[in-house]
Amino acid sequence: MKRFEIKAEFTIYEHEDELSQEERELLRWSREAATRADAGYSHFQVGAALLLENGKIITGNNQENSVYQGLCAERTAAFSAAARYPGVPFKMLVITAINPQEKLTKPVPPCGACRQVLFEYETKYGKNITILMAGQEGEIWKVNSAAELLPLTFSSAFLPV
Ligand code: ZN
Repeated sequence: MKRFEIKAEFTIYEHEDELSQEERELLRWSREAATRADAGYSHFQVGAALLLENGKIITGNNQENSVYQGLCAERTAAFSAAARYPGVPFKMLVITAINPQEKLTKPVPPCGACRQVLFEYETKYGKNITILMAGQEGEIWKVNSAAELLPLTFSSAFLPV
């Protein structure tokens, strides 16, 4: 038997003032997108702002419905970006959320499905996606690629050719 350890490394910013101007702008876009989320079931409004290599910013928010066939903010933004600008790599994604019942003081990380989708775009375009995660206030976390959020990743390399 062998054992191994997986380590994740990310940067913690104490406050958004520590972010670059570009990062702060994306955070503003993601917060604005969160206010427009269709979160009638979870009441947890998530916003995502995706910066593309061509400079375009695509936002997304969670879309919910009564049959639980909705979509997270991150994938809404990613699929919208890929639909509008196919082949253009993703540069940076900022994720935030609004909890109307209790202000979020911790960053909101993407779910497993979104991590896989982001990893796929990262692989397809050969370009790491910087991902920032924020709450409504407090710390902001940053990773330099989707792969860092998804150890032991399944990829197309496993599929038959
Ligand atoms: Zn998700």
